[in-house]
Amino acid sequence: MGAIRIDRIELRQYSLPFEPPFHAAWDPAPRRSLDATVVRIVAGEYEGVGGGGPLPGFAGNEHLFAGEDVRDIERHVAVLENLQFLHGKMWPIEVALWDLIAKIDGLPLWRRLGGAEGRVRAYASTGSRGTVDERIERACRIAGEGYPAIKLRMYEDDVGAEIAFVRAVREAVGDEVELMVDANQGWRLGGDTRRPWSLETAEAVARELNELGVYWLEEPLGRHDYAGLAELRMRSGLRIAGGEGACEAVELEECLRHGSLDVYQQDVAWNVGVLRTVELAPKIAAAGAMYTPHTWGNGLVLLANLHVAAAVSNAPYVEFPYDPPEFSLERRDYVLPAPLRADADGYVQLPEGPGLGVELDWEALEELRTGG
Ligand SMILES: [Mg+2]
Repeated sequence: MGAIRIDRIELRQYSLPFEPPFHAAWDPAPRRSLDATVVRIVAGEYEGVGGGGPLPGFAGNEHLFAGEDVRDIERHVAVLENLQFLHGKMWPIEVALWDLIAKIDGLPLWRRLGGAEGRVRAYASTGSRGTVDERIERACRIAGEGYPAIKLRMYEDDVGAEIAFVRAVREAVGDEVELMVDANQGWRLGGDTRRPWSLETAEAVARELNELGVYWLEEPLGRHDYAGLAELRMRSGLRIAGGEGACEAVELEECLRHGSLDVYQQDVAWNVGVLRTVELAPKIAAAGAMYTPHTWGNGLVLLANLHVAAAVSNAPYVEFPYDPPEFSLERRDYVLPAPLRADADGYVQLPEGPGLGVELDWEALEELRTGG
């Protein structure tokens, strides 16, 4: 097959207002909307889409792709890596290119990337603040819906109270449901200048969580504390997860070199892209670790990550952001024609159509469009 050349790249901005707002555990400010950038790439008769957060530095660089062969992905990723050094994350562009590549080959993306089965098992990833009682009640409700695993957040400064919260959830849901805990110490937003936990605090928390049968503790230290994370793994015996905050694949290579993590969570739409994730997956498996992505964001972020996870994840569960009513499926997936759903056993079936397998309803989205 001859070259299929990129005609144009369009970026469109959408925003879904949130009333009531979403009080994310890792964000001091309540979120009053969910913003999405949708990338649309046209190449001859094909159209590819990808989505994520803002791509403020991409505008003006479309010419670097126009006229290039869609399938020259190594070259495109090298260009995106050059751009991100100065202009920030660019990965929704790569997702749209993979959507195109898989469509050209007539395969769902998960199959194009070597997957045998287009389904993954979800862990419900909670994210809302609330009183301890509210958070326990929400976790029980979610467990009752059939999710096999739930991720809880620790965000209050009083870690003793947060451990008591996890213990109360364990007692309420029993041992059948796996629990993960995200400490969100790896990176911070804007004006949040708190320092990450010390190794001593992280170790004390990890030991308690290990006794509660927690499946993993996520981001217990700063993201560049490679040696500290490795030490924590050794001392606590609990699985340690991280990697969502890596800005480049080389940071994950550094984690591998140090033995920093049991669970690698790079996000294909947010931090290192599809190609680098596919390249890293066998190295992670060879190290005896797991890859299962961070997927928090809008529905296109989740969808792209689920495709790649179905192809190359070696972990039993994949993150499925879900914490109604503040972070409902309908809010999360508003850019998709219909929300992605888990079945009664927690499985999410991916589309069988080519590429990402969704046709966006551009007309319906128009009323939420804010730019581009
Ligand atoms: Mg996380």
